[in-house]
Amino acid sequence: MDTCDVLVVGGGPAGSTCAGKLRQAGLDVLLLDKATFPRDKPCAGWITPAVLATLAIDPEEYRRGRVLQEITTFRTGLINGSEVVTRYGTTVSFGIRRYEFDHYLLQRSAVRQSMGEPVSALARHDGGWLVNGRIRARLVVGAGGHFCPVARLLGAQIGREEVIVAQAAEIAMDPDQEHLCRTPADTPALFFCRDMKGYGWLFRKGSFLNVGLGRMDRKHLGRHMRDFCVFLEQRGDLPAGLAGRFRGHPYLLYGGQGGRTCVSDGALLVGDAAGLAQPQSGEGILPAIESALLAADTILAADGDYRRANLEPYAARLVTRFGDESMGIPSSPISSGILRFLGARLLSSGWFARHVVLDRWFLHTPILYSSPQSGRAGQADR
Ligand SMILES: Cc1cc2nc3c(=O)[nH]c(=O)nc-3n(C[C@H](O)[C@H](O)[C@H](O)COP(=O)(O)OP(=O)(O)OC[C@H]3O[C@@H](n4cnc5c(N)ncnc54)[C@H](O)[C@@H]3O)c2cc1C
Repeated sequence: MDTCDVLVVGGGPAGSTCAGKLRQAGLDVLLLDKATFPRDKPCAGWITPAVLATLAIDPEEYRRGRVLQEITTFRTGLINGSEVVTRYGTTVSFGIRRYEFDHYLLQRSAVRQSMGEPVSALARHDGGWLVNGRIRARLVVGAGGHFCPVARLLGAQIGREEVIVAQAAEIAMDPDQEHLCRTPADTPALFFCRDMKGYGWLFRKGSFLNVGLGRMDRKHLGRHMRDFCVFLEQRGDLPAGLAGRFRGHPYLLYGGQGGRTCVSDGALLVGDAAGLAQPQSGEGILPAIESALLAADTILAADGDYRRANLEPYAARLVTRFGDESMGIPSSPISSGILRFLGARLLSSGWFARHVVLDRWFLHTPILYSSPQSGRAGQADR
């Protein structure tokens, strides 16, 4: 029988961040994941500078032997439509490979691990938990992503929730393909579907090309993906025949219908298990990390008494940080009928691309009014 104070289920960004902080504070933590790391995770691998800042990652140290692509420019538009180029003249985002990033975070957490072991049995036992019939833990942290078994135990209606579905492929290019690829590495492309129910991306990171598409409507996802690849190939952005095998994954956007219960006696959910991805962009890595740190603070404050009442402050902290989910997300742009109607016109505006799509939805910088006519240096050009 193995014992620990806290068992963290899942070694993605949420799990490794929470486990690392608890271990540093002196708790006996065991992290368990069904995969062995490094492992692939379907993802575009786009992160904002806040991710590096929150985790105190030194970019120079990280990029030694790993991909850390600086992003200074974006191309945006509609699939089968025209594009707008927005130049920032400085680094506003980064591209990482999840295969490397998640492994790096896990190693850095220096936490005790049991890898290649799925949670197959999880039951209350003697005021704590008995996991897989061999691990006793006083508290479990569910960091197992959308299908997390701890979330299921806390009542998540997995399979009946309103999810975003996304597919991605990360393709290693050989030197000839790199030469043929016209996509500049510092300029990801984001192209929205005509019905505004999702968007596709093309993202070059070193010698890797990441292409994918996410939608709020799971119908015909494969067809949307194929159409997007044809569009990219016709533009010469994606060398013909390079589109790889796509792997998909559903996940929840924060503020969607029926948010998950994140706290129970002796249990907390973090990251995708809690359903925290940003509604406008689908960004999930930063919310995963932030929720993990909030959960760790709450666990440490509970000081060994993990009854629900002592863990409830975590739910309140999530509301303070991400907003009140029960209020919905009034400004959720993708579900807005008006925006759908205006989508094509708005997306062809350089002002809208910079100040709304990028600054507000993707980069979370406040909109500062500047007249579309102001034409200041660095303004989006077409
Ligand atoms: C196609 C796609 C593209 C995306 N692109 C971006 C992007 O560019 N930027 C961004 O910020 N977000 C993106 N996201 C969202 C982002 O990937 C997630 O929000 C993020 O991975 C959440 O991290 P996490 O640690 O909560 O979960 P995960 O990273 O999913 O980690 C969960 C871990 O739990 C383990 N696990 C699962 N079940 C079990 C079990 N039963 N027992 C043990 N272990 C288990 C898994 O093996 C996994 O390692 C994208 C998502 C998709 C699907």
